[in-house]
Amino acid sequence: MKPHLALILLSALAACGGASAPATTVAAPPATNVPATPVAAAEPPAAPPAAPALRGVFASDVDRTADPCTDFFQYANGAWRAAHPIPASQGKWSRRWESGELNKEHMKDLLAEIAAHPGAPKGSADQIVGDFYLACTDEAATDRAGVAPIAPQLAKLDAIKTRADILHAIIDLHAVNIGVAFGVGSQQDPHQPTRVLADVMPSGLGLPERDYYLRPDKRFVEARAKYRAHMAKVFELAGRKQPAAALDAVMALETTFAKAQLDNVAARDPKAHDHPTTFAALGKLAPHVEWAAYLDALHIPHGDASLNVDEPAYMSAVDKALAQTPVATWKTYLTWHLLADAAPFLSTPLVTEAFDFDEAYLAGATEIKPRWKRCAETADLLFGEALGKKYVEKYFSPEAKARMKTMVDNILLATGDTIREAAWMSDATKKRALTKLSTFNPKIGYPDKWKDYASVPVTRDALWEDVLAGRRFVVADDLAQIGKPLDRGRWGMTPPTSNAYYNPQQNEIVFPAGILVAPGFDLGVSDAVNYGSIGVVIGHEVSHGFDDQGAQYDETGALSNWWTPADLTAFQAKGKCVSDQFDGYFIEPGIHHTGKLVLGESIGDLGGVTIAWRGYQRSLAGKPAATIDGFTPEQQFFLGFAQWRGDETRPETQRLMVQGDPHPVAKYRVIGPLSNSPAFAKAFACKPDAAMVRSEATRCTVW
Ligand SMILES: [Zn+2]
Repeated sequence: MKPHLALILLSALAACGGASAPATTVAAPPATNVPATPVAAAEPPAAPPAAPALRGVFASDVDRTADPCTDFFQYANGAWRAAHPIPASQGKWSRRWESGELNKEHMKDLLAEIAAHPGAPKGSADQIVGDFYLACTDEAATDRAGVAPIAPQLAKLDAIKTRADILHAIIDLHAVNIGVAFGVGSQQDPHQPTRVLADVMPSGLGLPERDYYLRPDKRFVEARAKYRAHMAKVFELAGRKQPAAALDAVMALETTFAKAQLDNVAARDPKAHDHPTTFAALGKLAPHVEWAAYLDALHIPHGDASLNVDEPAYMSAVDKALAQTPVATWKTYLTWHLLADAAPFLSTPLVTEAFDFDEAYLAGATEIKPRWKRCAETADLLFGEALGKKYVEKYFSPEAKARMKTMVDNILLATGDTIREAAWMSDATKKRALTKLSTFNPKIGYPDKWKDYASVPVTRDALWEDVLAGRRFVVADDLAQIGKPLDRGRWGMTPPTSNAYYNPQQNEIVFPAGILVAPGFDLGVSDAVNYGSIGVVIGHEVSHGFDDQGAQYDETGALSNWWTPADLTAFQAKGKCVSDQFDGYFIEPGIHHTGKLVLGESIGDLGGVTIAWRGYQRSLAGKPAATIDGFTPEQQFFLGFAQWRGDETRPETQRLMVQGDPHPVAKYRVIGPLSNSPAFAKAFACKPDAAMVRSEATRCTVW
């Protein structure tokens, strides 16, 4: 797991200026057969007393002109995609993303209702999220203020004279989650999993990742030129036009940082980040950072305790830059990152410029998200458990939680069957795998204990101050874990989030309420469809426990090998099959997936389909299931999967994903695993030479 601060930084970008965040109004009308309703609305109606018939897949989404055995991605929901172009502010679109955007409409309704009833006690959840939302949606006030809200921070940066001043400026920026030079966050100790350590990590690039600085391909050369022009424009809009040489120096400094970072594939290996270090050794590694001052300022305990340094070579490069790069360059670099980070919260010209680069140029969006949506996303990001508590009260039912729990249980049992039957694995390794499986911790819907935001000062007339207050809380809340025993109750996503995750260090699978909505999960559809959609998500997260990364952690969450050498070799060969398969998937001529980058997610998808399929069979316990709308239960399962996964994706977003996203594009997340699935081929009676059927010689199986 990347430490928390990095996640926060990524999320922060996604909220108001991010490159790949899905978003926008829900433009599509619901299909006639199944409305995209929240779980709460899917409770049984009062009358008639007989249970309503369960619905099946979205039959009208199917492209009947396509052959399921040739291109199942097109067949499953090609008709829906043709009728629902990607909205202007989105990078990708499907019913799944549509439901994610509906969650944001629900957040907006909650926020607007709270904001309409002022007078909540200071420090209460209502006061904090309500006042934040009012400040954030007051576009006229932010326009009037211009860049004045960041004037105090700019003045501090302007006052930098010495190298010691640089460090103090870095501390100030880190305290409000602005990523410059490096980062420090809390991290579970990979060797003593009940402890929490400080973790020092790379940070501080303005482009999406290192290759953008280094690769000679035309599209990266162009991205660098656009980035530099964007930098110039932002400085100009802030009334601080820079000479070309100053911007060149910032590019050169960021390029130095990029060169010193591991590439995306190398960074996937948890062992590449595992460098237990003492504070004394850290001082020797990077002597130009005054560590005691840095750690004291951020209230991070040090002394005899150990910590982890993700990439020591990177910290050496930062140290060298601190010693040698001119103070003036550091000033411009730090100012640039403050401006870039604050731009989405300032006046319209800066908001527009941030959008034009981050979302329009890099991800292909043609229209900025409405302000209310950006504000709801930021409220979720900063005060997610205050807003999330209200969200689950209204939109997540106990019935949904119970049904989800049953599915998770069945899929965990099915995983056990799969492990026991794995002919390629020795009994010794199976025993360890089953022990690990027995310690999986499913979290469903929302945390048992909610964060308390009472200390966060939020007012209804100072957006940037509110953002800073929220970020100070987020950073302090993360850093406060260091030196304490591990708290297993914390969540890495907020309840309204339409996503899920596996955390290998806590061996937990986590499903926020925001993903447990139609069409992923619906109490009104057949089990076949639910197992195909949310069931595969469950199977996917479980499979992450046994992917190229997860398999390196044992049942206690320690980074410790539990495989016999022969079994590890066999497992790695299975991974290579998947990696080779995805190396062959092109998004456009000359640009294809990097199999090793998407390996974990692709093992998750392949294992997810297989395990969820078994879980579904288990749930039937031999009983027959109904054919609905002409689709057999088996067909419903695979269509449920492909309809939920079936994103249309903009070319720009695909290029961004191929470069840095460990997830393949949706088309290959459907075609990749299903073309390895004999159950799929059987369900649609595909011939052995069909495009959707990989031959026995090339078929990949992992779990
Ligand atoms: Zn995943």
